[in-house]
Amino acid sequence: MALLPILSFPDPRLRTIAKPVEAVTDEIRQLAADMFETMYKAPGIGLAASQVDHHIQLIVMDLSEDKNQPMVFINPKVTPLTLETQPYEEGCLSVPQIYDKVARPSRVKIEAINLEGQAFELEADELLAVCIQHEMDHLNGKLFVDYLSPLKRQRAREKVEKFSRQREKEAVAVKR
Ligand code: ZN
Repeated sequence: MALLPILSFPDPRLRTIAKPVEAVTDEIRQLAADMFETMYKAPGIGLAASQVDHHIQLIVMDLSEDKNQPMVFINPKVTPLTLETQPYEEGCLSVPQIYDKVARPSRVKIEAINLEGQAFELEADELLAVCIQHEMDHLNGKLFVDYLSPLKRQRAREKVEKFSRQREKEAVAVKR
């Protein structure tokens, strides 16, 4: 297992459109395991492969309190089941320290493949619906800050850049 570096906004690589996974191989299973380790350590509740610079349709998630309910979505397809939207305060490991409300359809259908290569389907609401739509956006090169006003997005960018510089300085200090 290995921790993977997480790309942060406004890194242009986050805008890459992810390709479908052709076969669920050991390599994919290893990447998923590394993504879980990276996500738990961050800590976060969801991570798309795009965020760790692997541009394939793979998402890992764990919404449980005890971090013992890992979920994997390969080649996911998400369809809204209602026109009703619900605002929810979102955050993102690629946009550290920024939280803001995004309105998304409150109920969706998810179709995906699991790590055994089997297709599954489920209906989601609440946090799972929010999270899967947020992660799907990553696979399509989109970030939650894209839904905010240009002014808010600019502020988020400045804050993230400042935070990243600070983190680099700390990393250098640790190495010394
Ligand atoms: Zn995110």
